[in-house]
Amino acid sequence: MSETIREKGGISVETDHIFPIIKKWLYSEKEIFLREIVSNAADAIIKLKRLSSLGHVSDIGSDFKITVTVDKEAGTLTVSDNGIGMNEEEVRTYICQIALSGALDFIQKYEGESKDSASSGIIGHFGLGFYSSFMVSDTVDIITRSYDGSPALKWVCTESGDYEMYDAEREERGTDVVMHISEDEKEYLEEGPIRMILNKYCSFMPVEIYLVIEGKEEEEHECSCEHKDDETVDCTCDHSPKPINDTSPLWQRPPSECTDEDYKEFYNKVFTDFREPLFQIHINADYPLNFKGILYFPRINNEYESLEGQVKLYYNQVFVADNIKEVIPEYMLMLKGVLDCPDLPLNVSRSYLQNSGYASKISAHIAKKVCDKLNGMFNTEREKYEKLWNNIKLFVEYASLRDRKFYDRIKKSVVFPVIGGGYKTVNEYLESAKETNENIIYYATDKIAQAQYISMLNGQDIDVILLDKMLDTQFISTVENAEGSDGRKFKFMRVDSDIASALKGDGEEYKNDKLTELFKKISGEEKLDVKFESLKDVRVPALLTVSEQNRRMEDMMKMYRMSGGEDEESYKMPQESTLILNSGNSLIRKLGESIDSESSEAAARQIYKLAVLSQRQLTADELKSFLYDSFDIIEKTVDPGR
Ligand code: ADP
Repeated sequence: MSETIREKGGISVETDHIFPIIKKWLYSEKEIFLREIVSNAADAIIKLKRLSSLGHVSDIGSDFKITVTVDKEAGTLTVSDNGIGMNEEEVRTYICQIALSGALDFIQKYEGESKDSASSGIIGHFGLGFYSSFMVSDTVDIITRSYDGSPALKWVCTESGDYEMYDAEREERGTDVVMHISEDEKEYLEEGPIRMILNKYCSFMPVEIYLVIEGKEEEEHECSCEHKDDETVDCTCDHSPKPINDTSPLWQRPPSECTDEDYKEFYNKVFTDFREPLFQIHINADYPLNFKGILYFPRINNEYESLEGQVKLYYNQVFVADNIKEVIPEYMLMLKGVLDCPDLPLNVSRSYLQNSGYASKISAHIAKKVCDKLNGMFNTEREKYEKLWNNIKLFVEYASLRDRKFYDRIKKSVVFPVIGGGYKTVNEYLESAKETNENIIYYATDKIAQAQYISMLNGQDIDVILLDKMLDTQFISTVENAEGSDGRKFKFMRVDSDIASALKGDGEEYKNDKLTELFKKISGEEKLDVKFESLKDVRVPALLTVSEQNRRMEDMMKMYRMSGGEDEESYKMPQESTLILNSGNSLIRKLGESIDSESSEAAARQIYKLAVLSQRQLTADELKSFLYDSFDIIEKTVDPGR
């Protein structure tokens, strides 16, 4: 076919610097050019369908598809569609002017910024559209024929921005975009990268997409019918080419039509995670916000595994990016899921998104849905909920710390594990503790190290909950700050904090200043407060308690120190520690009577160390002296004359 040039022109006077800028600025995410071109093809088909449904065009057929053809030999990558097509006028308006003015806006907005800030400033670079093809091409041809019956035409544009228009032959309605791939972008002529890009961005596009590799031999199809074993039988398998995408992804379907199996399969496929998710939340919002999505709670295998999720953002079934913090609240990124936000203004900067209120509206809606789901499970499937709690707890705690509203919504369904079995909410705990420890929730951070205190409290019919994770202690401050749902104030107290009131016995009062002095002396802790108290369990001679408030501060400091890599041996006794000497204990009484005897100091030291030992781990030095002291005592017992 000999081509006659019908028109020659330059896209616009500014093109001289636009093309180099397109090439340079978008460098980091070149691959999105294919998403842009394929999206345009899908739009062209959707537009045609809309015209047909409005009655403006008839007989459009039903075999709508996009074909991506890689022709390594010709050096071209072609995207063809059988959509609406363009007539000459439209090519001039949409391709030569309007689109470029969009690009100009983009460039003006970000001119002067560095490449990095410019490219990260635009989510997904939507809006640059067709021209992103020049990131990888020297020349781009458009061969198009409009649905309106106008003759077909070919438009050829080089990277300098000069274009030429020809008459063309194209029987069918639709458009081919032929990208002549530049010398240094040859990877876009390989099947692997192209398939990867299509899978990443186009897996759920609403129009079927086929990938054709020119020159590649048709793959032998595996037969699954009788023909496989018996060649005389006709093959009944469907060997027709398969599209690379799923045009109606699960999130677009009404939740009532989706089965658990569908959700699991979708999860496995999208996240290539073959563990079963715990459960999912299918969001189908259309007013006032229009977005759909599925969020999964992933299974956590062990406590050390950090929850690092993945939330994929789509725009009308076209993938935009993973984990966009400006749209999805950070704590939601612990989950795995897909969100399709067709109202998302994608060609605006991230700071605009952050300030527009759009993200906060979306996140509020998602947070509400998540809380509704958890509250629903708590109310109707308590047993199952408790079984799952360990897996969802970290998320709930973190979300509550980041978003107070989240906590307010979920607080009635937050449960704490009770040592000895079961789970209780704050209200359930307070209700059951009405008689004994009003408004105090006792907790342990280490079931074994704090066993002594736990058993003493349990002995008084007081439940102790377990808070043994780093985030737990921060979380309880949030819980305390929010009032109980019936307006009651309450406090969390660790089992080794000032618990004497809960353990108080009704023995007679006793006081011995010399003993107080002795314990102060042997402890080596100047600030140690020594008190006499009658404890219910008379066998325990002494108990060490630490002010809750102070200890929380110390814990925080320790966390910072640990991150600074300081040695754990530099342990310091928290301020405001109290040694409670049990006035009902016979050992204390006897010690008081023979205070000046030779062995009283050794005995006091031993009693003190044992109190420390049941409160925390001894340091290496403390442990050494404790062991040697113990050997001496045993020796004296065996040989009292020594
Ligand atoms: P955008 O898609 O954001 O409008 P583009 O630069 O990608 O910007 O495209 C500009 C216009 O060119 C489109 O709006 C559409 O009218 C037209 N166009 C692009 N590709 C096609 C196509 N394959 N078929 C029909 N029209 C197209």
